[in-house]
Amino acid sequence: MARLLEGKPIAEKIKEQIKQSVAGLNSKPVLASIQVGENAGASAYANSQKKTADLLGIEYQFHKLPAETSQAELINFIQKLNADKSVNGMIIQMPLPAQIDYKKISQYILPDKDIEGMHPANIGKLVFGKAAIVPCTAAAVMELLKETGVDLYGKEVVVVGHSEIVGKPLVLLLLEKFATVTDCHIGTSKAGKLEEHIGKADILIVAVGKAGLIKGDLVKAGAIVIDVGINRVNDKIVGDVEFETAQARAAWITPVPGGVGPLTVAMLMRNLVEAAKLQQ
Ligand code: NDP
Repeated sequence: MARLLEGKPIAEKIKEQIKQSVAGLNSKPVLASIQVGENAGASAYANSQKKTADLLGIEYQFHKLPAETSQAELINFIQKLNADKSVNGMIIQMPLPAQIDYKKISQYILPDKDIEGMHPANIGKLVFGKAAIVPCTAAAVMELLKETGVDLYGKEVVVVGHSEIVGKPLVLLLLEKFATVTDCHIGTSKAGKLEEHIGKADILIVAVGKAGLIKGDLVKAGAIVIDVGINRVNDKIVGDVEFETAQARAAWITPVPGGVGPLTVAMLMRNLVEAAKLQQ
């Protein structure tokens, strides 16, 4: 029976470290958060970020722009925040209205203020193993793995999902630790090869967004299972991995909710402090 790998206690430790780093800065760091239009999910996420920021001694500036804001207007707004020396980092709340392409606008945030780690310059640093600012969800997964105490050197790690925000940055971070990494995606599933890869994984990380995609009985005995997926099924939040059957086989498993989620905001704040240090 797997041990639960919970995010909250790790997040608490990291927040303590962040508090100390904030105290060591010349001035209170400032995080600018931009939401375009009304969205209950985005507002809830922004509220939870504000709470964490307040707790850590970080100033949280919230900017709500009208739903009809054009891409050019948003870029203009970002550039104003880029030029504002009092702002250390920026986050754009998702989802965005249809007229705005996140991939385009995220490139306008100065790399040193890009606390989501999505600017090509920051992704490039990740390739060279020199990133100070790492995409938050990928960083959260690495913290969970660290908590198990398992040495990643030479381990068979299978990542399912190859998005820019989770799967791909994770592959780079894992390679940095000399894990043997396989990244599975829709092509793997369509070729009927997903099950074969999962069965070989010492460490299985799933970030897809499809409830029940990973059958628990496929998990290798003694594996570490990190489930990034968030799915709403019958008013319950579940991951991508069948929890009970996977828990019966694995050595460690993250609960959903309560695994990766609680760590992502802490990672965002850690990135902000790193950004503030780079700017000082
Ligand atoms: P994306 O939709 O951007 O990426 C999903 C990935 O899964 C893609 O690479 C896609 O491949 C792949 N995929 C889709 N179907 C299959 C399949 N049948 N077999 C194998 N691979 C498949 O999602 P994100 O990366 O943004 O997020 C993934 C999940 O993680 C979501 O549930 C999201 O809500 C959650 N999440 C949780 C966070 C947290 O804090 N806990 C933070 C961020 C995300 P292709 O593109 O080729 O179709």
